[in-house]
Amino acid sequence: MDFQLSPEHLAFQESVADFVAREVTPRIAVMEEQQALDLELFHRIGALGYFGLRYPEEYGGANGDALMFALMLEEFARGYLSLAAAVMMQCLMGTTFIFRYGTQEQKQRLLVPAIRGEKIGTIAMTEPNAGSDLGAITTRATRDGDAYVLTGTKTFITSATRADFFSIAAKTNPDAGFKGIDMFLVEKGTPGLAVSKKILKVGVVASETAEITLDGVRVPKENLFGGKEGSGFGALRATLNEIRVMTGALGIGLARAARDEALRYSQERSAFGHKIGDFQAIQHKLADMEVGIEVSRWMVYYGAWLLDQKRACNKEAAIAKLFPTEHAAKCADEATRIFGAYGMAMEMTPQRLYRDSRFLLYGGGTGELLKNIIAKEMGM
Ligand SMILES: Cc1cc2nc3c(=O)[nH]c(=O)nc-3n(C[C@H](O)[C@H](O)[C@H](O)COP(=O)(O)OP(=O)(O)OC[C@H]3O[C@@H](n4cnc5c(N)ncnc54)[C@H](O)[C@@H]3O)c2cc1C
Repeated sequence: MDFQLSPEHLAFQESVADFVAREVTPRIAVMEEQQALDLELFHRIGALGYFGLRYPEEYGGANGDALMFALMLEEFARGYLSLAAAVMMQCLMGTTFIFRYGTQEQKQRLLVPAIRGEKIGTIAMTEPNAGSDLGAITTRATRDGDAYVLTGTKTFITSATRADFFSIAAKTNPDAGFKGIDMFLVEKGTPGLAVSKKILKVGVVASETAEITLDGVRVPKENLFGGKEGSGFGALRATLNEIRVMTGALGIGLARAARDEALRYSQERSAFGHKIGDFQAIQHKLADMEVGIEVSRWMVYYGAWLLDQKRACNKEAAIAKLFPTEHAAKCADEATRIFGAYGMAMEMTPQRLYRDSRFLLYGGGTGELLKNIIAKEMGM
C-alpha cells in the first residue's frame, strides 16, 4: 500500500491550484453578480487541456488517470464550485457518451472541439417528474425509418442555455423501466429542441441550469449511443460510479475552502479579549472539519484508484460521494457560524460556500439513494 501522491500527481495538483488562484478567484465576484460563467475563462480552461485530462491523446486529451481527475476537480471546487460543476460536466457526463459510443465523425466534430473548450456538451436525464427514479422518465424515442423521434421535457440541465450538444436519456421501451432507457445525441439547432425555462437557484448560480423541451426532435439512427436499443442502461451504469467519486472530489474542495476561511477568521477575530480561535469550542469545530476532510480524501482517492483498476466499486463510489458531500455541507454551515453575523454578509465568502454546498447534496444522487445502494451492497 502507498498512501502518497506521486510527484506527478502533486505537481499537477499544484499547477491547477495555481491556475485557480490566478485566473478563477479574481473573476468570481463578476460571475456571481451576472449568474453566468465567464466564457473566456471556460475557453481558456479548454485551451490549457484541462477538459481533455481523462481522454486519450488522439482526441487532444492527456490520458490522465481518475486520481488526477479527482485532484483537478477538488482544486477547481476549492476555488469556485459553479465553475467546477461546469468543468466536471464538460470533462465527464457531457462528453463521455460521445467518447465511448459515438461514431468517429461525431467524435471529430463534437468531442475534439469540446476538449478544446470550443463546444459545450451536457447530459439530460432528469425530468420534472423523475429524478432519482430514472426508470420513471417519460421522454420517448420512437424509431421512424432511419431516424428516431424524441418527445419530452428535461429539467435542471446544467449548461443547457449554452450547450452545443446534449446526451439525452429517452425510453425506447416504455414498459421496461430503467432497462428501457437509451441515450441519444441531440445537437443544438435541431428542430423541436428548445430551452424552455432558465431555473434560478440559490447556489452554484453561475453554473446555469435550465429546462429543455423536445417536441418531435428527429435525429438520425446513428445518434442512438451504443448502436442498438437497450444499451443505455449499461452505458449509464458504467458512468454513475465515476460521477459519484468525482462529485465527492468536489465536496473535498468545497470543504477545504470552508475550513480555510474559518481557520483564517478564527485567528483574526477577537472576542472577550481573545482571538476566537483560542476558544476550545471553535477549535473543536475546526478539528471536526479537518477530520472529515481527511476521511473524505481517503475515500475519494481510494474510489479513484478502484476506478483506475476497473474494479467493481458500487459501494465505495456511493460512500465516496455520500460522506464528502455531507461533510462539505457541514463545513460550510460551520464556517458561517464561526463568522457570526458576517456569515450572512454577501460580501463574505462563507455564505456562497453555504449556498453552493446544497448542489452537492443532489447532483450525482441524493444521500438517501446512496444509502439505498450501500445497504443493497451489504446484502439488504
Ligand atoms: C444544480 C443542479 C444541477 C443539475 N444538473 C443536472 C444535469 O445536468 N442533468 C440532469 O439530468 N440532472 C441534473 N440535476 C438533477 C439531479 O440529478 C437530480 O436533482 C437528482 O437526480 C435527484 O432527483 P430529484 O431532484 O428529482 O429528487 P427526487 O428523486 O424527486 O427525490 C426527492 C426526495 O426523495 C428522496 N427519495 C427519492 N427516492 C427515494 C428512495 N427510493 N428512498 C429514499 N428516499 C428517496 C430523495 O433522496 C429526495 O430527498 C441537477 C440538479 C441540480 C440541483
